[in-house]
Amino acid sequence: MLSTCKKCESNKLFVEIQGTRRGLYCGECGTWQKWITKDELQIAKFRGYKIIKKEN
Ligand SMILES: [Zn+2]
Repeated sequence: MLSTCKKCESNKLFVEIQGTRRGLYCGECGTWQKWITKDELQIAKFRGYKIIKKEN
């Protein structure tokens, strides 16, 4: 599980959930990091990342 952006190294990451896909994005530069698993979503929640749910 990433803790910093691969582009700008910011630690302000957030998760966007759209349907069954969960993407990890940088809150600083907006770069998509990776798709995350259900387990990684739990880690994201634990770390206090912002979780955004998008409707299709
Ligand atoms: Zn970034």
